[in-house]
Amino acid sequence: MKKILLKKEYVYLGNLILVNRKHPLQEKIKSYNLQPFNELYTKILLDYNANLELHKVLNEINSKNNIVPVSGYRSLDEQEELYRNSIKENGEEFTKKYVAYPNCSEHQTGLAIDLGLAQENIDYIRPSFPYTGICEAFRKKSVESGFIERYKKEKENITHISSEEWHFRYVGYPHSKIMSEMNFCLEEYIDYLRKFKLGQNTLSFKEYEINFVKMNEDIKEISIEDNEVLTISGNNVDGVIITKISNLSQRKGK
Ligand SMILES: [Zn+2]
Repeated sequence: MKKILLKKEYVYLGNLILVNRKHPLQEKIKSYNLQPFNELYTKILLDYNANLELHKVLNEINSKNNIVPVSGYRSLDEQEELYRNSIKENGEEFTKKYVAYPNCSEHQTGLAIDLGLAQENIDYIRPSFPYTGICEAFRKKSVESGFIERYKKEKENITHISSEEWHFRYVGYPHSKIMSEMNFCLEEYIDYLRKFKLGQNTLSFKEYEINFVKMNEDIKEISIEDNEVLTISGNNVDGVIITKISNLSQRKGK
């Protein structure tokens, strides 16, 4: 049995952080482990694990170079510049629809990637990523590797971002799969997880057990058995989500 101390800053770290206009990224706390997409796209950076899983999916669907990365990690400066330039070029209405306000962009987390169908002229803000062919194959397969299509048309009233069929967010497996099966966007999923308070209620999915711990409550440390593996991610709002794999022999890591 081991004990893990839950630190306050954990709320703002991890694959499940919700970053939007209401919940800006805590840039000073966030730590990064960024990698270039590959040797052809060295300027497009992505979180190390997200990049690994992304390439796994691209290989599985045999995308070759039919799907290309358009935009990955952005620093605060880059997001500010993009926002300013878009206001200048596209006007305020368009910009508010498609470009997140500085510190409210998922691209600053390193966990989001815009993908485009390879073609001669790729629109940087709105690349084409149709619900057909190789792009749709990616959409379906990526759910098994931790990705979600983040801004769907039917969730516009919740995300307040217009449908972006090209924008994928890494949240990690099994969360991507649960969200897809229950048709939750990240805002809804983060809310839903609050029902599963550690010690009271558990969300079970295959060999995973998922719990929520609200920070500032009594629980300051959690204990795990030696054969258990767990990940802790903040929700960037008020607590952490603990994802435990209880039987390692069934599935490793994923
Ligand atoms: Zn994007």
